[in-house]
Amino acid sequence: MENRVKQIEKQALAALGNAENSEQVKALSVKYIGRKGLVTLFLRNISKLPAEQRPEAGKQANIIKKRLETAFQKAIDQFALNQQDNADDFIDVSLPGRPAPMGSLHPITKINRRICDIFSRMGFDIVEGPEVETDYYNFEALNIPKNHPARDMQDTFYVSDNIVLRTHTSPMQVRIMEQYQPPIRIVAPGKVYRCDSDLTHTPMFNQVEGLLVDEHISFGDLKGILEVFVHQIFDEHISLRFRPSFFPFTEPSAEVDILCVMCRGKGCKVCSQTGWLEVLGCGMVHPAVFENAGYDTSKYSGFAFGMGVERIAMLKYGINDIRLYFESDLRFLRQF
Ligand SMILES: [Zn+2]
Repeated sequence: MENRVKQIEKQALAALGNAENSEQVKALSVKYIGRKGLVTLFLRNISKLPAEQRPEAGKQANIIKKRLETAFQKAIDQFALNQQDNADDFIDVSLPGRPAPMGSLHPITKINRRICDIFSRMGFDIVEGPEVETDYYNFEALNIPKNHPARDMQDTFYVSDNIVLRTHTSPMQVRIMEQYQPPIRIVAPGKVYRCDSDLTHTPMFNQVEGLLVDEHISFGDLKGILEVFVHQIFDEHISLRFRPSFFPFTEPSAEVDILCVMCRGKGCKVCSQTGWLEVLGCGMVHPAVFENAGYDTSKYSGFAFGMGVERIAMLKYGINDIRLYFESDLRFLRQF
């Protein structure tokens, strides 16, 4: 009888060796040590053995039952452990990928590019210059001598007595005229700096400067080019007007207004009830600026213009607070 229970154990362990998962092990556990399992039945039948064999057989069977219990449990734990490892390593190639969030161009970048694009299609070259500028290029050469009252118009960041953060992109006019002879057609986009901060002003903002110099250039050319520009950047049918103004480096000078995009001329808060919105400044290049560049003023004439990119973008997109551009708020930026 002892041999019988040892045979059962051998059988059970062999079957366990072939088990491929915990389900099969559990089935074996039921088959051998369950309530109607082979070892259990053996134990129940011990009473039928001759009395002198019973104690030894019972002891043996109980030891084997314990051993099998331990072996089955160990196998079940091992399968569970393997399964966990597999789950960690498992790559489901059929799962859809996780999309990376797409960025988009900043509204200022978009408008900047759009402005440059419109002018380059009209034959203008794009040029860039230094943001830290000498007093000469930022003021002097542009007919704004020291102590000129126009310097009060711009609250300037001075790096030293003679070096400033450029207050406008106009220095590029001079830099280009020093290097090249007419005909000249350039637009110069870039950052400019002024001590100014409120709802519509920031200490740093973007400007685009334009300059065209050639023989026989008149105010009519200026009007024509800027009209085409305004119609392309805003919309084809928008009304615009040229209003006399003053800049030290142009004469005559004008400011270009468009019919208010909010109220269409009826008058509202945005246009201060005037019905018009200023979009850019312009004028015929002042002879003094040409002389500084060494151009023959009897032969050449030209015009210049400048605009704030943030302002154009505010008008185009209906943005009422300039600080939104610099807050990097995705809810704002996603709209463009
Ligand atoms: Zn208005």
